[in-house]
Amino acid sequence: MSVRMCPHCKAEISASMSAARSNDIECPKCGARLEVASGPRTISTLCGLAAGAIVWKLSVDSSGDLGGVLPTLYAFLAFGIVSPLVLMFTAKLRNAPAIPVPLPVHDSGSAGHGAGGHH
Ligand SMILES: [Zn+2]
Repeated sequence: MSVRMCPHCKAEISASMSAARSNDIECPKCGARLEVASGPRTISTLCGLAAGAIVWKLSVDSSGDLGGVLPTLYAFLAFGIVSPLVLMFTAKLRNAPAIPVPLPVHDSGSAGHGAGGHH
């Protein structure tokens, strides 16, 4: 079982957690926003599709005249199992782009001075 590490504080982040929550992971220790790089996710999807296709082909060949329901079901199961598994072992965490925080504006000294009503 591979374990992801937070790039900030080197805290361990469980692989199941990083696989379950797709793009929005928060480090449980330092709270840094992390995300799974998009490359491994594509790879895992492709592997899941390939596994589904293989299982579908195998079950079509083996089940003979059972009809087309079971092979499709098996293919979906294979995709649902293989894809997150591959993602668990290939995903790497990287820093998520920081949310821009608007700076508080404090220039009350210049504005609001000349627009008064007193003379
Ligand atoms: Zn951290």
